[in-house]
Amino acid sequence: MAKKYKLKKQAKYFIWTIIGSIIVIIISTAIYKDYEYKHSAEYNLGLRGYTDQEIKLLAKNLDEKKLDELSTTKKNETIIEFLQAKYFIKNNLDRYLKYYEDNKKVTIDDIVAIVNTNNDYEFYTHDIKSDTKKEELLLCNKFYKLENDYKPDDLVTMKNKYYYGEAQVLREDAYEAFIDMWTAANEEGIYLIVNSSYRDYQTQEELYNEYKESFGTAQADSVASRPGYSEHQTGLSADIFSKDNTSTKTFANSNAYKWLVENSYKYGFILRYPEGKENLTGYSFEAWHYRYVGKKVAKQVHDKNLTYEEYYAYYIENAKKVNSKSKGN
Ligand SMILES: [Zn+2]
Repeated sequence: MAKKYKLKKQAKYFIWTIIGSIIVIIISTAIYKDYEYKHSAEYNLGLRGYTDQEIKLLAKNLDEKKLDELSTTKKNETIIEFLQAKYFIKNNLDRYLKYYEDNKKVTIDDIVAIVNTNNDYEFYTHDIKSDTKKEELLLCNKFYKLENDYKPDDLVTMKNKYYYGEAQVLREDAYEAFIDMWTAANEEGIYLIVNSSYRDYQTQEELYNEYKESFGTAQADSVASRPGYSEHQTGLSADIFSKDNTSTKTFANSNAYKWLVENSYKYGFILRYPEGKENLTGYSFEAWHYRYVGKKVAKQVHDKNLTYEEYYAYYIENAKKVNSKSKGN
């Protein structure tokens, strides 16, 4: 009888010990979690005045070191504005902030556009290899350079009626799209005519050097691309005028220009150097320079009212990075 009672007592003691330990573990975990939370960047960001939503945004886009930095200084409204900008690209954040420091009067959206298109660098000082595997979507400008020997392998010579001056060549798809566009314009009484299309590296080099020898580098750079940086080397660009207006000075006032602005995207062409976007494209407004990018992208560029530089940065390069990350590469 006494033995049984002793066993019962032991069991009771054992159970209470377990319950006690569990309670201690729960309480200490809670205390530790609270301690950890109160020492986390998130908690301190809250103390700095960031809203929960802003903290989530910060945590999504910044690494731990950056979060810690932010949590120890006065609330940075600018960084939040950049994170919320329509065309924000995570990898460019430091460059946005630096550009902002030097140019406080420029708007957030303009800074995002300038940095996304690499225009926080000087022209010809920041070469990126132009990705010709992207075919008609490749980018070539004062930052994206083609190889000296790059020459598309599907160049086609245009029929006489489509150009004036020297014989003109375009890549096959661009040429077919041009013919469709030409036909549609022609039906509306507009006779489109090309005076410059594919130019190889050597031709561009001669052209640029001629300007350079006569007028100096600055002047040459303002009128011609340096070799390797000209979109004409892609075989996807054409300088398009109309039979009754081939003047670079007045073409912007012509009906043909008006028609091209309203319709060229339907055939896969975009106006490459629009008015007022010189700071992004690196070129003054050229009413005559069109670039083939295919119908789908041309419509998007047109509808979103972007330069191709902006479109490429956000929807092609950045989108590619996002995709490859989600696949775990
Ligand atoms: Zn051109």
